[in-house]
Amino acid sequence: MSTIQKNYDTIVVGSGPGGATVARELIRKKQKVLILEWGNNAPIRGSLFQFVNAAGIPGKSILFTDKKFLTMIRGICTGGSSVFFCASAFDPPYDLMNSYGIDIKNEVEEVKQEVPIAPLKDELIGPGAKMIMESALDLGYDWQKINKFIYQDKCKKNCGKCSYGCPYGAKWTARNYVEEATNGGAELVNSAKVTNIIFENNKAIGVEYRKKFKSYKVYAEKTVIAAGGIGSPKILRHSGLYSAGYDFFYDPLIMVFGTVDGLNSNGETQMAAGVHMEDEGYMMVDLNFPTPMYMVQSASKLRLHKVFAQSKTLMIMIKIKDDLGGRITWNGSVHKSLTKQDRLKLNKGYKHAKKILKNAGAKGIFRGWNVAAHPGGTIKINHMLDSNLKTERDNLYVCDCSVIPEGWGLPPTLTLLALGKRLANHISG
Ligand SMILES: Cc1cc2nc3c(=O)[nH]c(=O)nc-3n(C[C@H](O)[C@H](O)[C@H](O)COP(=O)(O)OP(=O)(O)OC[C@H]3O[C@@H](n4cnc5c(N)ncnc54)[C@H](O)[C@@H]3O)c2cc1C
Repeated sequence: MSTIQKNYDTIVVGSGPGGATVARELIRKKQKVLILEWGNNAPIRGSLFQFVNAAGIPGKSILFTDKKFLTMIRGICTGGSSVFFCASAFDPPYDLMNSYGIDIKNEVEEVKQEVPIAPLKDELIGPGAKMIMESALDLGYDWQKINKFIYQDKCKKNCGKCSYGCPYGAKWTARNYVEEATNGGAELVNSAKVTNIIFENNKAIGVEYRKKFKSYKVYAEKTVIAAGGIGSPKILRHSGLYSAGYDFFYDPLIMVFGTVDGLNSNGETQMAAGVHMEDEGYMMVDLNFPTPMYMVQSASKLRLHKVFAQSKTLMIMIKIKDDLGGRITWNGSVHKSLTKQDRLKLNKGYKHAKKILKNAGAKGIFRGWNVAAHPGGTIKINHMLDSNLKTERDNLYVCDCSVIPEGWGLPPTLTLLALGKRLANHISG
């Protein structure tokens, strides 16, 4: 066991949107910050190989739930899942956050000044997304362009690399904030897997982590756990905070596919437009899947004649707000099944998507697997955290998707960036 006796003001565990924001803001406030990140910091190349390495390893970044086949993806690298995300920016549900004593309106506005957030220019919207939008509007859906975290002047239309990580720097990711933090003096240690928090008299004083088969202890005034909706509860459990990791959400989704003769749609920027069916509890958006993922889904659904038809396929994603439930196990696996209500929402969404695709002229419509990509609510505000994101132990905070207090059903990144800013203000006094 090695002990690193440096005096950090704050240790941040995890460098996804939550952790990266806290680190960046604390550096701007002249704190000494250490970021510990399990994944690597390899430059983003936009390759399938890199994607599989960081987000496709079974048991690590691809997790399977115990009941019914549902796959969950997370990114293990600097920037976390945001490196592979679809870059859609949704405002937080302010009323819900206010009801927990959390007003993040100013922080959201601040993020919007610093990060590119705007709907895509028409010329960056692919033919498939346009076709879906026209069909949906024709049927009376309120199908609108979605705000994107994209530097549109750098975006290469139809390059198809968005989901593998943008190599052109067009997609804003949490790695941008990590880079600002390290340029400002933060230390980033990669391949450092935090196992537990160190306490003294009920007060967090540091963490233990493993790197290359060796264990290390590091110490700081404050510790912020931001290892994501699955990673953070695992660390808290192993540190004696046993209520972490229960009754969570993961925003399940399905893809709906249909082919249109004559369409030439490859590598479109995903989630250009869609509709939030708030009352029914789900959202529908265009989402052009990368070729290998499309091929695997169509083959596994026995649509073998469609495996090579990606360029003529229209794709709609249905993402629901699921019921809270399940548990994260001691070793970080996910036990949660879809409820009857969840299935009803997915089926309802599927019916609407089918209608839109049919109206657009699509044939051979089918649905893909159940997938989830937003695990959260595992260390909720008002349950394990106060409204300053502090745990019952002094000097210990959590800032990532785990903290969300209720079922969500929306892309959470903008909310997490705002919460990160708010927490950094609180910590630095
Ligand atoms: C395919 C996909 C598409 C998405 N699209 C969108 C979108 O369009 N818009 C949107 O808002 N959201 C989207 N999301 C969700 C969004 O990316 C996540 O909600 C967000 O990244 C969560 O941030 P976080 O800080 O909670 O955790 P994460 O991003 O999961 O980051 C946690 C970090 O902690 C690290 N870590 C974990 N355990 C440890 C440990 N023990 N020690 C040290 N480090 C650890 C991980 O390696 C990771 O870097 C998408 C997600 C996926 C997977």
